This record gives sequence, structure tokens and C-alpha cells, in this order.
Amino acid sequence: MKRILAVLVAVIAAAGPLRGDNFVMKNGQVVEGKLKSWDEAKKTFTVIVDEKGTTKTFKMNDLKARFPGKTTWERRAEYLAQYEKTKKPAVKPTWESHQTLGKWCKKFLLPEKGLEHLRMARQLRVEKLVGDIEAGKIKPDDELDHRLRIAKWLERELGLFVESKEEYTIAYGIKRVLLGEEPSADLHYRLGKWSQEIGLEDMALADFERAVALNPKHSSAKDAVNRIRNSTEFKLKMLGEEYDKYGRAWHISVAIEEGVDKKFIDGWKDRIQGLSEYVWNITEGQFYIADCEIEDNTSEGKIIVEKGKLDWRGMDNKEGSGVLAYCAASGTPSWEVHCPGITGVSVLAHEIFHGVFGLPDEYYQNPMCECVMKSAPNPQRLCDTSNHIGGGSNRGPPGSEGKTCWQIIIDRPEFKATPKHPNPLWVWAEGGPEKMVPAKTPDHVEGPRNVGGEVRWQRLQVKEPPKTVFMILDN
Ligand SMILES: [Zn+2]
Ligand SMILES: [Zn+2]
Repeated sequence: MKRILAVLVAVIAAAGPLRGDNFVMKNGQVVEGKLKSWDEAKKTFTVIVDEKGTTKTFKMNDLKARFPGKTTWERRAEYLAQYEKTKKPAVKPTWESHQTLGKWCKKFLLPEKGLEHLRMARQLRVEKLVGDIEAGKIKPDDELDHRLRIAKWLERELGLFVESKEEYTIAYGIKRVLLGEEPSADLHYRLGKWSQEIGLEDMALADFERAVALNPKHSSAKDAVNRIRNSTEFKLKMLGEEYDKYGRAWHISVAIEEGVDKKFIDGWKDRIQGLSEYVWNITEGQFYIADCEIEDNTSEGKIIVEKGKLDWRGMDNKEGSGVLAYCAASGTPSWEVHCPGITGVSVLAHEIFHGVFGLPDEYYQNPMCECVMKSAPNPQRLCDTSNHIGGGSNRGPPGSEGKTCWQIIIDRPEFKATPKHPNPLWVWAEGGPEKMVPAKTPDHVEGPRNVGGEVRWQRLQVKEPPKTVFMILDN
């Protein structure tokens, strides 16, 4: 939530009751819920804040803006009904059918059901392969290729990484049997070459190392070990896997609520790549966006570009005064950023820090905290004990009371105590953390950007975040 110029309390009385909404409060808090009652005499309003019907009462005077929409629990209930009534009865006992349904569930707020169907798709596809081999439709010699195809499909299409690894391991076992049982340096060398050809560098490395262990004079194996160990690509991949283990490589999606052209989607691609770089620099190279799906004509995603606002800079107007963007369900797994079509990268950085880290706004202090969580234009840095100014009236999620932004991030359990500040592996570019330079993409709300730096990891100098992988669904 950014700076406010207008107080839109009047909107609330005009809109009908029992409609799901996001209530943006003046202290920066965003309350997701449905309006239950409006008390003119007491100057208060009451909101239903969850599916159990829990209510909370707020002072009208504390409300900044209200954005109509359905709550996540209402949407989830609708999708579940649709799933039970039409989707599930229509699923065929084929892997293709379960794949389609699984992807639908994942997208429409039913992740557990989605996982069930994707796993079923894998089971059916493997069963079909085995059946086809038994029936003579596929030659046993071709099993290896088919297993590899399944492994790649699990990894790239279904995002089932553990299952993919299992299939790769089965394929590897078949290959090993085909090459012969005697473990020798040469056998491991050939297995390593094979793994390398199919893109399994980590498995290849393990075999090359086994080859060297069995025969320290095996020069091809030694060369192969050195080549992999010194390859930038390999190390970046390892770095990415390391970050992914601790929730530090983010997987997000952008949902554009209406149909748009390629140019608009490309603009968002640039924005998200820029956002990843900002996140990387602000967090001293400890977080970035690993992949991002951008889809138009859809309503569900982590970053929602609202309908009718494609050429707007603000949530209420083209010019970008008032609320520029906001984040609902901050600091929970179901966080959602709402924004117009033209949004500054620094605004997105502020919002995604609400979403992922649950950081509170820091602009109801006087003076404000010199931090990305202050109002726009905001510096692209995080406050710590050396400069944090307390006194904001907003509260972050439980556990964040009175803490600096860095401390809140460090203490979040999902990162398993791996983020550090200062990050010992990070070297600031010339000028250091205090130096602020103009934003790369000038916009009227872009604050100054820090100079950035590099992560020095395993003799690798990573100057930029590993590139974000995009998946574009242009409907
Ligand atoms: Zn801060
Ligand atoms: Zn602060």
C-alpha cells in the first residue's frame, strides 16, 4: 500500500452489503472480508473476516479505501463446488485428463486436489508405458527413452520435482543395467557422459567422481569433474537449487484480468525481471524470482492486474494518485498483490515484500523509516537496527512487533534461519549500501535504487539474480 491522497470512506456506504472486499486502512493494513454493517451513529463498520463468520469492527475514520471483489474463501468455495459438480465427474481415466484437471485445480485455489490429480496422471502414464511394453506396442529397448520423457514431463510440465527425480533414477538404473554390472572407472565415466547428455549435470558429476575414486589416473573423468565444477552454469544451477530449498527462489504468477496483446505481456515480463533484480539487490543477493507465469484473461494469480485499469497508474485513476497498489493476506501463503496495468517496479517491490515477508508499512511514523516499506518514492533498501524508526501504527503478522524489516525476514520460519544481514557472501558495488542511484526505469513513483553488488559463492561472482524463467499464456 502506497501513499494516499484521497480518503474514500463514502464509497463504503454506497456499495451494497455482503459483498467481498478489500478494505485498505489508513495505517496500511489491508482487511479482506465482507461488510456486515455500517453504523452511522457510532461511526464504525463491521466486517466478516473469515469463512467461519468472525467479525471485526473498525472506525470509519481509519478507512482509506475499499476495493470490491470476492474474498479468497468465497472464490475457493465456488471453485470447489464447480470441481465437485462438473469437473471431477467428467475426468477420464487417462493421464491426459488428470493432467488437465490437476492444472485447473492448482490454478483455481485448490492446490491439494491439483497435486492429487497430477500424481494420478503420473501413475496412469507409467502404467500405460508398462502395459504397452507388455503388449508389445513399445519395444523393451525403448523403455529408457520413454522413462526419460516421463521424467522431463514431470519436471517441466507438472512441476513434480521429487517424482521427476524418481523417474530419472529409474532411467539411470536401466542405463546402468544396459551398460553392464561390473563397477569400473570406465563404466562410471560412460554413465556420467550419458547423464550429462540428458542434462543431469549433478548425477554426471557424481559418476565422474566415482570414476576418479576408482582410478585416480582416469584423465577424461578428471577433466570432466573439473569442467563441471568450474562451469558457471552448473554453479548457478546449484545456487538456484540451494535457494529453492529455503523458499528463497520465488515462484509467482501474474494474472491479467482481460485480454491483452503481446506488447503488454512483454512489458510485464520486463517488469518482473526488473522486480527480481530489485529484490535481489535489496536482500543482498538472498532472494529472487525463479519463475513467473504470465497469463491474460484470467482472474487467479499472485499479482493481479485489474480489469479496466490496463493504462492506469493507480487503483482509482489513470494518473496514479491515491492507492497505487495493495497487498491482501500479507505474510501468508495466499498473499495477493492487486495493481493497475502501469505499475512501477519499486511499487511492486514494496508490495511483494508485504506479501512474502509480511513486512508492515512504515509510513505512519514521523519521520518515516528510510526503507522500501515507506511511501513512494521509497528507497530500495531495508531498515535494520542502525536506522529503523519505530512508531508506526500498523502491525505486521504476529511475531513482527517492533522489529526492523531485516529482523522480520531473518526470523520467518520458512527460510530456516538462512537469510543473513549483512550477508557475508555479498559484496556491495562501489559506494556501498548507503549509495542510492536513480531507478533504472524512471517513473513518477520510482524511488532511488541501491547500487547493488555481487554474491561470491564457490568462486563464482554472481552480479545479477539468476534469470527468471517465464511461461507466457496468451489467451
Ligand atoms: Zn523497514
Ligand atoms: Zn523500519
